[in-house]
Amino acid sequence: MMPIAESEVRWVKPPTLGLLDRLYLPAIAQGLGTTIKHVFQPKVTQQFPEERPDLPANYRGLHRLNRDADGRVKCVACYMCSTACPARCIDIVAAPSPWPDREKYPEMFVIDELRCIYCGMCEQACPCDAIELTSMFDLTGLSREEMMFDKEKLLSVFDQSVAMGKDPVRTRAGALSCASEPNV
Ligand code: SF4
Ligand code: SF4
Repeated sequence: MMPIAESEVRWVKPPTLGLLDRLYLPAIAQGLGTTIKHVFQPKVTQQFPEERPDLPANYRGLHRLNRDADGRVKCVACYMCSTACPARCIDIVAAPSPWPDREKYPEMFVIDELRCIYCGMCEQACPCDAIELTSMFDLTGLSREEMMFDKEKLLSVFDQSVAMGKDPVRTRAGALSCASEPNV
């Protein structure tokens, strides 16, 4: 490594401090000015969890599996969501439907909420509007297993989000539909 020539070194002189600067008075006044300015500005910090953020309806939070008008799981186990999922975190086992209006239903439906990247592709891919992302974001678990949301848990998220009165955008946008239920 070549040493730096003395002529290439640029020496910077420290600024000369006056009496006020030495007492730090200008800096203290500047700091107080900033504090006072913020006192009168609109507050943006929310005291979570005492204050809950009012998230927009298109927020992509926890999934829910929607119920149909009869309270049954709306999903017809077509695998479109799991095929579209880039994180490969949806696991479905289809079984013959116990109901006459559809061929299949999900005997098992599990989403790994820790692996999910909350992209919304599953919601977009579903032909039945059976899976949606809600504005719920603060469900936690103490283990990885707890964050594997099965069908019952995903249906309970639907029930909770309905009780909250804050449906996702897609539900709000219009009639939910399904290929196997042309009149719904
Ligand atoms: S939000 Fe994206 S990553 Fe998560 S389950 Fe749906 S498709 Fe997969
Ligand atoms: S795309 Fe919809 S109907 Fe098909 S398996 Fe997924 S949630 Fe069920």
